[in-house]
Amino acid sequence: MKIAIIGGGAAGFFAALTAKKEFPSAEVTIYEKAARVLAKVKISGGGRCNVTHACFENKLLATHYPRGENYLKKAFEQFNADSTIEWFNNRGVEMKTYPDGCIFPLSNDSQTIIDCFLTEASKLGIKILYNHSIILVEKQDSVFIINTREKQFKAERLIVTIGGQPKRSGLEFLEKIGHAIIEPVPSLFTFNMPENPIRELMGNVVEKTTVKVEGTKLLGKGPLLVTHWGMSGPAILQLSAWGARILEEKSYHFAVLVNWLNDVRENELRKFIDETIINHGLKMIGNLNPFPITNRLWHFLMLKSEISQEIRWKDLGKKNINKLVNTLINDRYEVKGKTTFKEEFVTAGGVSLQDVDIKTMESRKVKGLFFAGEVLDIDGITGGFNFQSAWTTGFVAGKNCGN
Ligand SMILES: Cc1cc2nc3c(=O)[nH]c(=O)nc-3n(C[C@H](O)[C@H](O)[C@H](O)COP(=O)(O)OP(=O)(O)OC[C@H]3O[C@@H](n4cnc5c(N)ncnc54)[C@H](O)[C@@H]3O)c2cc1C
Repeated sequence: MKIAIIGGGAAGFFAALTAKKEFPSAEVTIYEKAARVLAKVKISGGGRCNVTHACFENKLLATHYPRGENYLKKAFEQFNADSTIEWFNNRGVEMKTYPDGCIFPLSNDSQTIIDCFLTEASKLGIKILYNHSIILVEKQDSVFIINTREKQFKAERLIVTIGGQPKRSGLEFLEKIGHAIIEPVPSLFTFNMPENPIRELMGNVVEKTTVKVEGTKLLGKGPLLVTHWGMSGPAILQLSAWGARILEEKSYHFAVLVNWLNDVRENELRKFIDETIINHGLKMIGNLNPFPITNRLWHFLMLKSEISQEIRWKDLGKKNINKLVNTLINDRYEVKGKTTFKEEFVTAGGVSLQDVDIKTMESRKVKGLFFAGEVLDIDGITGGFNFQSAWTTGFVAGKNCGN
């Protein structure tokens, strides 16, 4: 039996290695369009490769995927974050967990992961054909005809792992074979706020914020980083992932409401301000910042609320308190455009999950055809979740493709 894998990325290698282990007599070949394989693994996590996340409860792990949660919940029963660590440990790659839950190779070098895959592939006798861009796939009886521009290959089983395709045209050959495609849109991007003075605070981080997209239910929580073009950081990236489609429909023009004090509510904040007035009433507001934000941001928010830094806390008055409360927990910014996040961007959309059996990753439309990785309509937030879904779906496809 010949098993063909289209795409030599994270999911492709994981599928190929699993397939060859499971079906040793099969001939496994990876067709890769570029001159090198695993290019994204190489640059991932700033060259360190955030392999997975320390989240060992399958249901909880699945909640980190804006698209694919229910499907992955089932797939994680076969291969989850624990399995990933064990798989690499068994091949001599030690992992290190960081306080935020991100897991990287102990070497802190993505090349360790690439070397591991290439060594395993060579040991198992997996063939890798470079510069082989597949443009068309057809099925004749029970055999797949796989076409590059120049050549034709045949295989009984096919695993498609071509990754996220920014344009629908990259998925056309899958549409031709009968698969529904969910329109691809970018996920994991940062927000542009051209000309907004907040950008002067670039480099400022507030560890705990809540950010909402005005007029929607979209919500991001966590650190927020002010950049020279607008806002970034986990809270913003979460919004970009959960809102990938809605924000695209808005042409990336919308408003965000920032609570700089995490999820502090208005009545709690008013009580806290009253206490500050009682305890520090004589201090000038510019000199006493009682909140977990930097003084630079504090002064900026005062300016935005049109409150003088020289005013004493006891002299704030009702009107100023109202303005301050609003700016601290409901601070509005216009977003005009997006910037690709440099660390980790992915594509939402791809092959519709409705046409794929998650227990095997086999197509419900074409027998013998399997999918894994970002080519599917699955994507996660930052933190190692995207590779985890590539390992999981690659494993499930590899394990089942020869049956
Ligand atoms: C800069 C950056 C950093 C990232 N860092 C992280 C991280 O630290 N942790 C994390 O979890 N995720 C990270 N991600 C996301 C992660 O890299 C992807 O989700 C993951 O690589 C998807 O794996 P894949 O195998 O499905 O696709 P890919 O890794 O994209 O592999 C697809 C392969 O298929 C090949 N191919 C495409 N079309 C064809 C064709 N027609 N014929 C033949 N070959 C084809 C491509 O050349 C490529 O080699 C990062 C992404 C980027 C862009």
